[in-house]
Amino acid sequence: MKERLEALKHEAVAQLNSVADAAQLNDLRVKYLGKKGALTEILRGMGALSAEERPVIGQVANEVRSAIEALVEEKQQYFQRRETEERLAAEKVDVTLPGRPLKQGGIHPLNQVIQDIEDIFIGMGYRIAEGPEVETDYYNFEALNLPKNHPARDMQDSFYLTEELLMRTQTSPVQVRTMEAMKGEVPVKVICPGRVYRRDDDDATHSFQFHQIEGLVIGKNIRMSDLKGTLLQFTREMFGPNTQIRLRPSFFPFTEPSVEVDVTCVKCGGDGCRVCKNTGWLEILGSGMVHPRVLEMSGYDPEQYSGFAFGMGVERIAMLKYGVDDIRHFFNNDLRFLGQFARI
Ligand SMILES: [Zn+2]
Repeated sequence: MKERLEALKHEAVAQLNSVADAAQLNDLRVKYLGKKGALTEILRGMGALSAEERPVIGQVANEVRSAIEALVEEKQQYFQRRETEERLAAEKVDVTLPGRPLKQGGIHPLNQVIQDIEDIFIGMGYRIAEGPEVETDYYNFEALNLPKNHPARDMQDSFYLTEELLMRTQTSPVQVRTMEAMKGEVPVKVICPGRVYRRDDDDATHSFQFHQIEGLVIGKNIRMSDLKGTLLQFTREMFGPNTQIRLRPSFFPFTEPSVEVDVTCVKCGGDGCRVCKNTGWLEILGSGMVHPRVLEMSGYDPEQYSGFAFGMGVERIAMLKYGVDDIRHFFNNDLRFLGQFARI
């Protein structure tokens, strides 16, 4: 029996030493050490042994079992280590490879100009107000002193959605909404940027959709000189410290008196050139003192309060500032154009 045990050990060691993988190892473990394995099979014969032989053979059997178990253990660890190494090798990342470059975007030039204008007015204590682009006839016209059938409505060809709803033709309705929300409180000091819509044919200077920034100030003793000082400060920050402005009388239904505001030509500085058609001046915005009727309709007593309002086209400001000669460049999304304005 001892010889059989030694032979078994010899055979098991030889097979285990040439085992190829973990699955095969498991098969061998079952074959030699399992409940129905070869070792158990031999030990069944222990009963037939004499009392003297039994402990001797028992010890040999234990040694054989220990030897096989130790080898199985060793092989298991070897296969585990090998598996880990193979996985690490397969999942290896070469961190020295150069990355794929990301294309960097930029802010659209119109948004940049809007942000610049907002920054200037926020610096003067204004806050930003916004309103809906689909507007009621009341806010877009009536509350701005443009009752139905008023001839000045023809100044703005509108996109009507229903009898009472239209795409707003100006950002001025946000003035009215702000005044209503303030419920007669002062000071009101807001700028209102946003998109507006007119039934215009697109050409180099017109677009059916463009951007305006409206400004509104209401308080006690607000005068025309406040308007002029504010606009002078704004234009100097926008176009340079030597910029001059001039006010020309004009007409808007919602301001009285109304003025058009010109700045000294951004190209020639006032000497006269092609851009300013040799006048030295460029028109940039319309403004005036808020019409008493507009104040009254939105809950402000014109005997106590006064205010000024102004509105400018963002595209026009951008075209003058950057020397762009066609408004359509802003909307065609040509990256060769837009890329020139990218600020990092
Ligand atoms: Zn000029």
